[in-house]
Amino acid sequence: MTVLPNGNTRHAAGAVPIMRWPFGKERPVDSTRSYPVQKSDEDWRQQLSPEEYAVLRRAGTERPGTGEYNATTTEGIYACRACGAELFRSEAKFDSHCGWPSFYQPTSEDNVELIEDRTMGMRRVEVRCATCGSHLGHVFPDAPQTPTGDRYCMNSVSLKLVPGGG
Ligand SMILES: [Zn+2]
Repeated sequence: MTVLPNGNTRHAAGAVPIMRWPFGKERPVDSTRSYPVQKSDEDWRQQLSPEEYAVLRRAGTERPGTGEYNATTTEGIYACRACGAELFRSEAKFDSHCGWPSFYQPTSEDNVELIEDRTMGMRRVEVRCATCGSHLGHVFPDAPQTPTGDRYCMNSVSLKLVPGGG
């Protein structure tokens, strides 16, 4: 196990235990933090579809293999579905075969917020949009085939692909 510059530890290939994924589990996004884009829960409900709301604002997880960007290779920018802030670029997307769109790094570390998540009896790192606080997915240090070793495992419904060059 090696420690990466971002503080994560990189496990030897094959050393990461297979986890049971918390499909459909929901939990409120912490509303006590302050973000540049702040909206009331009612405003988010009206703006987002029920599926988008469940993931972005209730930290739900879409079913693996069902997301619209799971296998997308279109070039462009992946923005936050809730507030439109840029999160990832297609260049950092890779095929992790995990059932969700995966990226090895955000466009800028300032674009996302990483929060320790101890729910579901696991210690994970939750990824949120740094602009509006919406839930995006989790990041795992289990992608040794990428330049960073990280796998930002995102929900398609949290993202909006804007096709085209950056
Ligand atoms: Zn956002």
